[in-house]
Amino acid sequence: MSPRRRKFWGWGYEGDILSEEELNWLEGTWAPFFGIEQFEVTPPPTVEEVDLPPPRLSVPSQLAAICTTEPYERLRHAYGASFPDSARAFARDFSHPPDVVAYPRDVQEITALLDWCYAQDIVAIPFGGGTSVVGGVEPPPVAERVLTIDLTRMQRVLAIDEASQVALIEAGAAGPVLEEQLRPGGWTLRFFPQSFEFSTLGGWIATRAGGHFATLATHIDDLVESVELVTPRGLIVSPRFPASGAGPDPLRLWLGSEGIFGLITRAWVRIVRRPRFRASASVRFEEFEKASEAVRAIAQAGLYPANCRLLDPWESLGSGLGNGTQAFLVLTFESADHALDPWLRRALELCADYGGVVESQASESGQGESHRQGSAGRWRQRFLRMPWYREAMTARGIISDTFETAVTWERFPRLYEQVRLTTAQAIREVTGKAGWVSCRLTHVYPDGAAAYFTFCALGKKEALVPQFWEIKRAALNAVTEHGGTITHHHAVGRDHRPWYDRERPMLFAEALRATKQTLDPRWLLNPGVLLDPPSGPGVI
Ligand SMILES: Cc1cc2nc3c(=O)[nH]c(=O)nc-3n(C[C@H](O)[C@H](O)[C@H](O)COP(=O)(O)OP(=O)(O)OC[C@H]3O[C@@H](n4cnc5c(N)ncnc54)[C@H](O)[C@@H]3O)c2cc1C
Repeated sequence: MSPRRRKFWGWGYEGDILSEEELNWLEGTWAPFFGIEQFEVTPPPTVEEVDLPPPRLSVPSQLAAICTTEPYERLRHAYGASFPDSARAFARDFSHPPDVVAYPRDVQEITALLDWCYAQDIVAIPFGGGTSVVGGVEPPPVAERVLTIDLTRMQRVLAIDEASQVALIEAGAAGPVLEEQLRPGGWTLRFFPQSFEFSTLGGWIATRAGGHFATLATHIDDLVESVELVTPRGLIVSPRFPASGAGPDPLRLWLGSEGIFGLITRAWVRIVRRPRFRASASVRFEEFEKASEAVRAIAQAGLYPANCRLLDPWESLGSGLGNGTQAFLVLTFESADHALDPWLRRALELCADYGGVVESQASESGQGESHRQGSAGRWRQRFLRMPWYREAMTARGIISDTFETAVTWERFPRLYEQVRLTTAQAIREVTGKAGWVSCRLTHVYPDGAAAYFTFCALGKKEALVPQFWEIKRAALNAVTEHGGTITHHHAVGRDHRPWYDRERPMLFAEALRATKQTLDPRWLLNPGVLLDPPSGPGVI
């Protein structure tokens, strides 16, 4: 339906793959790491190769213009972007695709789609960019019939209230699409998750995504003023206030609702002027423990850097920084209004207190690019290309994934050590070989930090998904046993349910169920995500 099609089996657009040079780097790095001569490479699937079950729905004529059963569309909407999704795509396993995919253009069309689902007991799955890494958009295997509702035809910036610095934006707008519309007025949402290129405003709100800012406005929650939600029972719009103390806030219920209460169709979000002043530095530490204490001191000093990414020695090495024992801190202060050199100076004094040595430092106003050079620039470059590496690694039988948490400072050192150790042990036990485990702090708070782990292991091509789950289960158990939340920003979906169910208070689960029952009485919206339908796990 779109002129430039996204790959149904990987990241980015069709034809957009790693360069020869990047592939050489990948193989030249990982083959010796795993002690093998060379990789056997599985080619990506083609639409024709996949044995796709026929659709079990026929689309009513009044909805035909916005619905499709084209094989490519059903494949493209069958999975999100997690490792198991990638592994199943390379295994040509698409056994539970949606039967129909719809591209509504407004609230009326969404209402008509939900009416159809309610008339015929069809499961409805809201879909934004499909970048979920927690099984959030995948049809449940036992569902009878599934309609996936893709919001990306709704992508306009509808209004800008300049006095209040907020914009009304349709939920299907992906990062570049909304930024492009804000830019002419000098505005920006300045919300940059790593999946920015394809993930959408509605997806960010539904998953409480984490973006650019390492402190203060870390989640999309902080940028949302009001949300419009279409439920099977009707439309709900949360009132527009900068803040309110009027009882529990309806907006808070839609944030993180992961498509189970309704479809987010538009939102008023807080926009800012593009930053003109930047003060940035990268700092090297000989000990990660000391580096994390420096970061804690910065977070508790009321300095609020926009970027405060601390890379452990393995994460640094993987980004081309240091010798494998040193940690690196990438620090940036930014403002549209004033220079921030005194803030940076004080942060660097705190780093020095913990043994930090400044590797590079820059201060600029206007459109300078120095914050994109040096160690910070090298890290940024790897960070941006990472999504494309995933599929090339899956094709070579490398299990690669990330998981993230947030934990109080007091518990952080033990969590970090134990999660690293447990994950490394699990990789060795499951695959018989040593693997890779690294960590970075992505967001920092006065009372704790978000720790983001990456792991890689050489799996068996025919058993990548079960091997992955053995490792990931061990890692996530260690995270929660040591006081971390099951997710700081990746959401719950279907994959994090067992841990989320333990973390969530029982009575709160009941209150959520009651809300679900009120808004979606037949439990047709995204069943299995956050809650199980009353008749049992995954049963419709
Ligand atoms: C390479 C990569 C990098 C990532 N980086 C980050 C990151 O930096 N920060 C971060 O927070 N996450 C990150 N993620 C995870 C993912 O991008 C986020 O969860 C994102 O918010 C999902 O947005 P989406 O539009 O792709 O939603 P989808 O994946 O389409 O959907 C996610 C969930 O939201 C629901 N949903 C989507 N749109 C709507 C809507 N309009 N109304 C109601 N429900 C809806 C879906 O049903 C599903 O449950 C990353 C993922 C990948 C693959």
